[in-house]
Amino acid sequence: MEEKNAAELEENELTPEVIVENLKDVRGKIERACARSGRDPQAVILCAVSKTKPLRDIEAAMKAGQHLFGENYVQEIREKYEQLGEAAEWHMIGHLQRNKVKYIIDKVSLIHSVDSLALASQIEKEAAKHDKIMDILLEVNIAGEESKWGFTAQETIPAAQKISEMPHVRVRGLMTSAPITDDPETNRVHFRNLKKLFDQLGAAGIKNVSADILSMGMTGDYEVAVEEGATMCRIGTGIFGARNYHK
Ligand SMILES: *Cc1c(COP(=O)(O)O)cnc(C)c1O
Repeated sequence: MEEKNAAELEENELTPEVIVENLKDVRGKIERACARSGRDPQAVILCAVSKTKPLRDIEAAMKAGQHLFGENYVQEIREKYEQLGEAAEWHMIGHLQRNKVKYIIDKVSLIHSVDSLALASQIEKEAAKHDKIMDILLEVNIAGEESKWGFTAQETIPAAQKISEMPHVRVRGLMTSAPITDDPETNRVHFRNLKKLFDQLGAAGIKNVSADILSMGMTGDYEVAVEEGATMCRIGTGIFGARNYHK
């Protein structure tokens, strides 16, 4: 793909060099947060959130060794998958409508945002058609925000229990989006609470359910999330720059 000079870049669009620098910076911060909290620096997987961003940004990140990308919109996953396919690994991280499961079931390796039993049942149905087992995370509204999707903390383990009976769906852990805040420290308590629930899920010993992925931490708060035990961070703006939604 041809590189654009600075004058040709769209609003908020970063050059490939800046994207590569950002990636390095984020990886370094994750490693240092691991070190501070006595964790293995390799313990955290970086999911680069590329929603609304063009293919060339994803390709710039891929050149710098980034393989895993998170997307929120079904249509965008379909388009990007068509162009890059298996060269990258795709995760669905955004709210998923039941009638759209069929479009992504064969394209993503993990759905972070399972927020109802009805959605899990739909995933079961579509995964069975493809003869695959779909890995999922349960989205938890850990701060109890009115406006957020997700299971409450109390609903989460019973939900995992029910989903464990679905042969083509495998719960791998938990995900949350903490409240938007200017001070990441205010989210520490939420990350700590989700880690507790995650450990309880693991200790519950439910057949067909594992607690090995704890997806928490975004651009504004991932260092705190890592200190509190995240095994996967979903970072968009910190890598690709601000998003334009008015296209
Ligand atoms: C957009 C999004 C992210 C990334 O957010 P940034 O603040 O840009 O890092 C992470 N998780 C979910 C669910 C998102 O929708």
